[in-house]
Amino acid sequence: MVCPTGIGTASAHSGKPAALSSLPRPAGQYGLPFASPPGPDTWLLGQFYGNTAFAYEQRRTLYGNGQGMHFGLDFSAPCGTPVVAITDGVVSEVDGPHGSAPHNLVINHPDGLSSLYGHLLSKPAVKVGQPVRRGEVVARSGDSQGTCVSEPHLHLEIRDHSHQLLFNPVGYLRADWASLGLVNPDMAGPGFQQDLRQPGAWQTPEDQPSVRLHGPLLNNFAQPWPPLAPRTPVKK
Ligand SMILES: [Zn+2]
Repeated sequence: MVCPTGIGTASAHSGKPAALSSLPRPAGQYGLPFASPPGPDTWLLGQFYGNTAFAYEQRRTLYGNGQGMHFGLDFSAPCGTPVVAITDGVVSEVDGPHGSAPHNLVINHPDGLSSLYGHLLSKPAVKVGQPVRRGEVVARSGDSQGTCVSEPHLHLEIRDHSHQLLFNPVGYLRADWASLGLVNPDMAGPGFQQDLRQPGAWQTPEDQPSVRLHGPLLNNFAQPWPPLAPRTPVKK
């Protein structure tokens, strides 16, 4: 799934990154960004966070700002699907400078993390400074290409408040990731990219590296597998 989230993040950071020791560890403490259960008529997992084969292909382009990783989770969903806050917080940005066009939303949470909801259908109706509760509808999902028939999906990120550090949402969101992964196009294909020098690294949805925006590529592998050609990206 094409997810041009990395575009537009170049000038988007501010302040010092948070000390990792000050941030909460992933413990399934957040909810999913949809009120409805997964299914073919509601939403399904589209692409995991991290070292996906597609991110490897796009490591110098779409995801170049994010060390070559897919630095969010993609949920395939029809345009207009209600998106809910994953936990309590305060709206910090509406259509801010963090990419994930055509519209995005950032909520700051009191634990030191932020959630970003991207590729939204329209400008979210919430206002900066507005408190929101977990499960409250805050936006509608859209399409990264703006068509609603190309790649309709929600891109969800977990960041620190400085917007420089990005974390794997899988551990923070309580969900049955193993079942969701069964219908994931990455899992049906070659899955996560391997470096044959370290073939076991970053091969599960849970075991993926954190990202520092504009840091060096993490997946410039010496012996990548699968090779790039002739695989083409999974598209919907
Ligand atoms: Zn994405």
